[in-house]
Amino acid sequence: MSTLGSQHHVAITRDATVDWMNRFAGEMSEHRAELVALDTAIGDGDHGTNMNRGMTKALEKLGAAEQADPGAVLKTVAMALVSSVGGAAGPLYGTLFLQMGGALAGQGEVDLDAYAGAWRKGLEGVQARGKAEPGDKTMVDALIPAVQALEAASDLQTGLRAAAQAAEEGMKATTPLIARKGRASYLGERSKDHQDPGATSTYYLFKTAAEALAG
Ligand code: ADP
Ligand code: MG
Repeated sequence: MSTLGSQHHVAITRDATVDWMNRFAGEMSEHRAELVALDTAIGDGDHGTNMNRGMTKALEKLGAAEQADPGAVLKTVAMALVSSVGGAAGPLYGTLFLQMGGALAGQGEVDLDAYAGAWRKGLEGVQARGKAEPGDKTMVDALIPAVQALEAASDLQTGLRAAAQAAEEGMKATTPLIARKGRASYLGERSKDHQDPGATSTYYLFKTAAEALAG
């Protein structure tokens, strides 16, 4: 192995991005019932079904044609989610992946700065679309600390791991909150003491990113 061997994983490739989406789809399938249970408590019980259907469709689309680069992979996932998932999560995750894909357009290899920048664009898209602020008990509560952890990191591997941990903490911190956006907000005080389903799926997105992209 050359002295540059340890540098091989400092950038995110197309194949690694496909691996990430495969792993995320796997988590949405494996945790479908968990996400349904969380959404049954404070919503309409479809979040796990929605995400599993959308990511199954995304894998179909990824398998049907070869994407040139990481951004193209994420755009393909975005389109699959928007076309197959109704409700809040389809458009919100669709926006997230579309903005990320757009930010990475034409880049064959993605370094930490570009990756963190893409997440920032994705987060901005989700907030522009859904108007959720931190503490509203949504996926934004997992996204914000995770994106901040990536932005604060000095290398990709530690950044990805820090982001997954931050997303997990953000997810757990939604439990005591009163929902102010989405269906759960209709429950008012009764939305307390339940973990937000969308923050939970977002945690799985960062968990799988660390597994697939950290080398
Ligand atoms: P629906 O609420 O339409 O049934 P899902 O159950 O698939 O859609 O997704 C619910 C999740 O979507 C919530 O747990 C929350 O994290 C997220 N969500 C809902 N509304 C918003 C919003 N305005 N901004 C950000 N996230 C939201
Ligand atoms: Mg729902």
